[in-house]
Amino acid sequence: MPASGRTAADLAERLLAGEKRALARAISLVEDDDPEGWALVREVYPKTGSAHVIGLTGPPGVGKSTLIGAMTKHARERDKQVAVLSIDPSSPFTQGALLGDRIRLTDHFLDPGVFIRSMASRGSLGGLSEATLQAALLMDASGKDVVLLETVGVGQAEVAVAGMVDTFVLLLAPAGGDELQGIKRGVMELADIVVVNKAEGALLPAARQAAAEHRHALHLQRARSAAWTPEVLLASAATGDGVDEVWDAVARHRSALEASGDLARRRAEQGTSWLWSDMADRVVDTLRASEAGAAAEAEVAAGRTPPSVVAARLAATVLGAGAGADADAHERPQP
Ligand code: GDP
Repeated sequence: MPASGRTAADLAERLLAGEKRALARAISLVEDDDPEGWALVREVYPKTGSAHVIGLTGPPGVGKSTLIGAMTKHARERDKQVAVLSIDPSSPFTQGALLGDRIRLTDHFLDPGVFIRSMASRGSLGGLSEATLQAALLMDASGKDVVLLETVGVGQAEVAVAGMVDTFVLLLAPAGGDELQGIKRGVMELADIVVVNKAEGALLPAARQAAAEHRHALHLQRARSAAWTPEVLLASAATGDGVDEVWDAVARHRSALEASGDLARRRAEQGTSWLWSDMADRVVDTLRASEAGAAAEAEVAAGRTPPSVVAARLAATVLGAGAGADADAHERPQP
C-alpha cells in the first residue's frame, strides 16, 4: 500500500504539473478501468472545470482531423495548451494505427503544449463514454485550456459526446441531402455550431447552398439554450480559411453559456446523467451476477412471465418498493 500510494500521489502531482507522460499514463489507467485511475480522477477532480471542452463530429472524410490540426495551430499561436482525444467506437484498433493514419497533427507531435490521444472501443459504448469522460477530466486537470473530443465513426457516439462537452461542433461536407450524409437528425439538433467544410474553389457554391439548407433546418428546431442560437459557418480546413471564425464562434458560444448560467446548468445535467448511467451499470452488473438475477433470467427464458413483470418484481425485492406486487397475475398458464 505505501509504495502504490506514493506512486499514485506522485502521478497526480506530475499530472497536475502538466507532464505529458503522466497524463498518458493516467489515461491508460482509466482506459483499463484500473482502480488507481479512478482514485486519480477523484484526487484531481477539484482542479478541473476550467478547460473548454469542445466536441467535434461529422461523417468520415469530411475533414475533422484537418480542422483539428488547423484549430490546434490557431490555439498554439495564442499560447493555449491543447489536448485532442479521438474516440472511435467502431474500431477495435489500438492507438498506433489510428494516430498514424488519421490525426493530421504531425506538426504538433513534438510540441509539449499539445497532447494527442486516441481511444478505441473495448466493446460497449458505455465503457468508452466512461473512459472518455475521465480522460477529458484528466486533460483538464493537467492544465489544458482546450480539450477537443473528436468522434470517428458514426452512430450513438456522437450523442454520447454531445452530452460531455461545453460546445458541440458538427462538421459537414458541401452537399445537402435529406439523409444529412449519414448523420442522424438527432445529432443536428445537438449542434451548437455547424461548419460546412471544404468551402473553397469549385466547391464554394455547393457549400453556400448546403449552409443555407442547414440554417433553415436549424431555424425550425428548438434551440438547446435560450442564450445561444446555433450558427452555420463556412470553412476550409485545408487552406485555413474560416478557421478564425470557427474559433470565434466557439469562444462566443462558451461566453454566452457562461454569462447566462447555462454552462453551469449544462455541466450539472451532464454530471447527473453520468451519475445515473453509472448507477444503472453498477446495479445491473450486480444483479446479473446475483442468485435472484439468475432466477429472474431463467423465469423469463422459460416464457412464462413477461420480462417487464419479472424486472418490476426483482426491482421491488432489491429496492424494497411496492412495484411489481401483482406480478403473479400476469403469468401465462402452463401448457
Ligand atoms: P476526417 O475523416 O473527417 O478526419 O477527414 P480528414 O481530415 O482525414 O480529411 C479527409 C480528406 O479531405 C483528406 O484528403 C483531406 O486532405 C481533405 N480535406 C480536409 N479538409 C479539406 C478542405 O477544407 N478542403 C478540401 N478540398 N479538402 C479537405
